Amino acid sequence: MTQKDDQEARPPWDAARVNLTSKELAPGVFAVMPDDVFAKDHVGTTAGFVVGERGVLVIESLLNGDLASQLIGLVRRVTTKPIRFLVNTSYHGDHCYGNYLFPETTTLIQHPATKKYMEEKFEEDRSFMIGLMGKGKGIERVQARTADISVPDMLSVDLGGRTVQVRHFGFAQTPGDLVVWAPDAKVLWVGNMIQAPSPALPWLLEGRHKESIATLTRVRDFLPEDATIIPGHGRPMRPADIEFPLRYLDELDRAVRAAIHKGRSLEATLDALAMPEYNAYSLFDWAHKTVNVPAAYHHLRDSVTAS
Ligand SMILES: [Zn+2]
Repeated sequence: MTQKDDQEARPPWDAARVNLTSKELAPGVFAVMPDDVFAKDHVGTTAGFVVGERGVLVIESLLNGDLASQLIGLVRRVTTKPIRFLVNTSYHGDHCYGNYLFPETTTLIQHPATKKYMEEKFEEDRSFMIGLMGKGKGIERVQARTADISVPDMLSVDLGGRTVQVRHFGFAQTPGDLVVWAPDAKVLWVGNMIQAPSPALPWLLEGRHKESIATLTRVRDFLPEDATIIPGHGRPMRPADIEFPLRYLDELDRAVRAAIHKGRSLEATLDALAMPEYNAYSLFDWAHKTVNVPAAYHHLRDSVTAS
């Protein structure tokens, strides 16, 4: 227990030490990433922005005012055009807590489930995030700001001379997962539905792994082979790299299902599911043992009991 408590007490990355950089992937299309993104298998939250003739669309507002200011500063280094749109890929605080720092004239876009969650659960969520990321990381000063436009399925945003699509492919990590697709540059921001390329694993914080598999499959099938994916916490990747989390989720599903059929307890299932071919991930113990196996176990056991 002590080891588990220690792991939970340690934040996955230090919000006070994130230095954001931008990389132009195509003319006017920028990925924003922590500067240690190529050195680690899990880093602070990524973001991005797309510049059109009439204005800018920004993806994510990040965890706190400092990170949101860094992001806005990177936009201002390349253009003076107004930030007309801001998209949150989920209601996780590291993707949306910086909303309050964007101009009032910026139109905020969220999935309806993200808007509802933020309106109803903000204080609770903020306490959770302070517990996860630590005190004094700027989270105390965050103010909730929710969508001007809710997107349940798909929205095309005309930035002048180019269009960007905001899409919901289904539940992946939260009910309100949105992705942003820049078709002319073939770049897709996916937020937390993919944390980072291999060896990173999905985090099934709300369970429902069968839906994650279906959604990730839809995303992979939607994309041309040479598309670039910006995952929530890692370096850019290709659609073929989605096979790795898909294979993990499939193996997890099969193994947990077999354990339940044998009548194994969760503890016995955890012992049986070492899955050493995936343990190169620096957050393996936490993501696999503490989050994913219990989530899959409870979900499958409940559905077996219910049928
Ligand atoms: Zn995140």
